[in-house]
Amino acid sequence: MIFQSWQQNSAKKSYLCPSLKKFMPPSSHIISATLQRWFAENKRDLPWRETQNPYLIWISEIILQQTRVAQGYDYYLRFVARFPDVKTLAEADEGDVLRLWQGLGYYSRARNLHVAAKQIVGDFDGRFPENFPDVLRLKGVGRYTAAAICSFAFGTPVAVVDGNVYRVLARLFGEETPIDSGEGQKRFEALAAAILDRRHPSAHNQAIMEFGALQCTPLAPDCAACVLHAHCRAAADGTVALLPVKAKKTKISERFFTYLVITCGEQIFIRRRTERDIWRGLYDFPLIETPALLTKEEIVENEAVKEILSGVKNAVFRNFSKVYKHVLTHRRLFAQFVAVEISDISQHLEQQFIKTEKSALADYPLPRLIERYLISD
Ligand code: SF4
Repeated sequence: MIFQSWQQNSAKKSYLCPSLKKFMPPSSHIISATLQRWFAENKRDLPWRETQNPYLIWISEIILQQTRVAQGYDYYLRFVARFPDVKTLAEADEGDVLRLWQGLGYYSRARNLHVAAKQIVGDFDGRFPENFPDVLRLKGVGRYTAAAICSFAFGTPVAVVDGNVYRVLARLFGEETPIDSGEGQKRFEALAAAILDRRHPSAHNQAIMEFGALQCTPLAPDCAACVLHAHCRAAADGTVALLPVKAKKTKISERFFTYLVITCGEQIFIRRRTERDIWRGLYDFPLIETPALLTKEEIVENEAVKEILSGVKNAVFRNFSKVYKHVLTHRRLFAQFVAVEISDISQHLEQQFIKTEKSALADYPLPRLIERYLISD
């Protein structure tokens, strides 16, 4: 249906442009066959491509959300070595799961994996569910991940639509509907389904994703050497750099943190982040968040700082770190660390925070920002 409407819309436009005399509208069969041939010759050898085990595919897909293959590769190997199947993951301590995830970011992915593993043990007797709606019900699994797992592991004819696929489809079909709109989502899902090779959904889906990752890249697509060049609407129209279209500009917010690194001899105070916020489940230091960065004088006089140190008789502000800039999706953090030495531990500190040995800090899952401070301190 969407294929027909695309062809009707396209019919209003000229397929010929002055520099490209041979542009031809694509057919679903040609696109998929070409992508699969290209994939066979160009695919990267990756461990999760050599398996049809849904558990391993699931882990790889979750790691690769928001993470480049080069960064995720070692994490994947470590994760599946430590938790080789659903049962070991379900029985693990959340802290162990988060520690293995440390440095990858987007920690809700790890927490959701852990919850979903328990779901599989509880609801499916430890066997990975095989049908699409059941996979979709797992915590942290959206349409894209469910489609990837079901098509790669079970050969279910369902099309994947991830960021790479959006880009390839938008350019191939000259589709200008914003990908972050409801209408865009429907159109792109329909387009993806229309070109799916239903007999070989795994090869097809992997091919189009890899093609987007390696060939039809966001900033430097190699159009001159592209096997789909003759069928590509955007290449014919000169609109490659304009597609895909996004309606909303991502708003980046800035946050300003002052960490108190409170030590008493070899002991140090940390806290587990339990709020619905970044880094939930990880550990950091007592924190003051303010609308702007505080000066040294403001830190010493700050009421929240005084509250944290209430009951401590001897607190010495030893060191004020440089400002660490830390970029997360949609957020820019500016953090400074203040080393505070105390010689007596107040009841308030003991009740509000976790007292541990400095040497034991490595046993806790820590955000990358805290690691950066510890390494450079
Ligand atoms: S010709 Fe360029 S824009 Fe079109 S599919 Fe190939 S790489 Fe992507």
